[in-house]
Amino acid sequence: GNQHKVDANVLLLGAENVGKSALTVRFLTRRFIGEYGDIESIYSHIDKIDGREISFNIWDSLYPQDCETTETISEKQLQWADGVILVYSICDRSSFEVVRQQVHLIRHASRKMSATAPIIIVGNKRDLQHQRSVSSEEGRLLALSEDCGFFEISAAETYHGVLLVFHELMDLIKESRALR
Ligand code: GDP
Ligand code: MG
Repeated sequence: GNQHKVDANVLLLGAENVGKSALTVRFLTRRFIGEYGDIESIYSHIDKIDGREISFNIWDSLYPQDCETTETISEKQLQWADGVILVYSICDRSSFEVVRQQVHLIRHASRKMSATAPIIIVGNKRDLQHQRSVSSEEGRLLALSEDCGFFEISAAETYHGVLLVFHELMDLIKESRALR
């Protein structure tokens, strides 16, 4: 088969405390460890999809704490990214509003740079149903209106959902490369 390595730069964005690091570590190690600290890092991970090796570079970003910062995404990040995962927590309404802002920001910037990075919107912490404050419908509608993929997952409970997110993003990245 075709064994040459494909590279994909994946940028994780979203508010603080939504599970960006949990999702990243799940994908890298298949484990959930509970506490992740505030580390911003780019990780490399090789995964096999359909017999083909994909080398993922994952940028686990930090949401800016600085009140002076109005732009929550840098141009550098967007230029680097082949695909973006926007994460909110289904039990944190304000984190959903951050994703709404960020998806608009990315679409606006992409038009200026004439690029089209595929985006997947992820509603995390699905295990906390009793604290839910964002309905599945709202998440799905936002994704639909902005032409993004959508998943609700629990990084705490399963590896499977996390894997689906990365595989779907890779499919979208391949599609967007074929169009270029
Ligand atoms: P980040 O700031 O977006 O990187 O968020 P973290 O990955 O550090 O996670 C923030 C907190 O939420 C940590 O205490 C995690 O253990 C917790 N967490 C992450 N994902 C889930 C999840 O799917 N379910 C639950 N119940 N807690 C989660
Ligand atoms: Mg983090």
